[in-house]
Amino acid sequence: MLAARIVKPGVGFEIDDVEVPRIGADDVLVEIKAAGVCGTDLHYSRGEFLPPLPRTFGHEGAGVVKEVGPAVTDVKVGDRVAIHYVISCGTCKHCMRGNDNRCRKRISIGHDVDGFFAEYVKVPGRNALKIADNVPFEWAALTGCAVSTAYHAVTISGLRRADTAIIFGAGGVGLHAAMWARYFGAGKVISVDLVDSKLEAASRYGADVTVNPTKQDVLEVVKRETDGWGVDAAIECSGSHAALEQAIKAAKGKNAYETGSIVSVGLQTKPFEANFMGLREGRLMVSGDHNRGELSEILQLEAMGRVSLDQSVTKHISLGEVNDAVSMLATHQAGVERTVIDRMTR
Ligand SMILES: [Zn+2]
Ligand SMILES: [Zn+2]
Repeated sequence: MLAARIVKPGVGFEIDDVEVPRIGADDVLVEIKAAGVCGTDLHYSRGEFLPPLPRTFGHEGAGVVKEVGPAVTDVKVGDRVAIHYVISCGTCKHCMRGNDNRCRKRISIGHDVDGFFAEYVKVPGRNALKIADNVPFEWAALTGCAVSTAYHAVTISGLRRADTAIIFGAGGVGLHAAMWARYFGAGKVISVDLVDSKLEAASRYGADVTVNPTKQDVLEVVKRETDGWGVDAAIECSGSHAALEQAIKAAKGKNAYETGSIVSVGLQTKPFEANFMGLREGRLMVSGDHNRGELSEILQLEAMGRVSLDQSVTKHISLGEVNDAVSMLATHQAGVERTVIDRMTR
């Protein structure tokens, strides 16, 4: 079968012919029908955060079950499934509390083990979640990371009805964070990005106010839009150091008692200093992907037509074009929000 792998650091993906994985008793073999290309894959292709190589990447995927191990009971051959990329033990403290994303024995598909940029993938049966017939594979794929990471971040921010949220970054996660903030009843959503075309997309996803920090002072806009009280939730999805500093400031209110929550989602790779003065009763959280229950909730909302990801997939490619898709992420090509590999050909 064909698989897009990183074999040497820093030279991107190569398309290799590899063995179809053999499944164990608890596993299923899934034929991948759609695999999303995520910002994390850009890091991998540049040689950052790499596991031992070679590795097949891809952690947003959906497909059809082709083989089922004898111990698997929840899915059968022919089922359409979304794949949860977090493999957890099910028995540690965090798993027992429903936070499998914090599992003490966690392994991530598409990083620690081979992922979805391939014709077939082997995953534990309980990582394959059956999807309704009306949920397209590409929706299910995106739901596995970009959409669910945003859902988790908005959930833990504690955003309540009529609250004001500011979202830094309008990429795959940031756009869906704006969507979920609206879905969860935000009174006002402010989106921030350096690229105007991405801000236009943010408006389509539900942002009421958009800010380009190269043209406007973000904190002035926050002051104006919140009457000086600061935002209730600041969600940082870009990984920018400056954005996280602004997120902390945006959550501060004018009387130092009313402060919001700050959720850092984008990978912050450098240390930073924060001034907590004026952030009384505020909360600073670092969001870590999403849990299995949340993935299941979102798939249910999609099946019931409560949310649509119709505008989320803007480009379809073949496996052989994966390096182009990754470079497009780096150059922010206008109008391309999410790329999905839906043909496993060279
Ligand atoms: Zn991802
Ligand atoms: Zn566990």
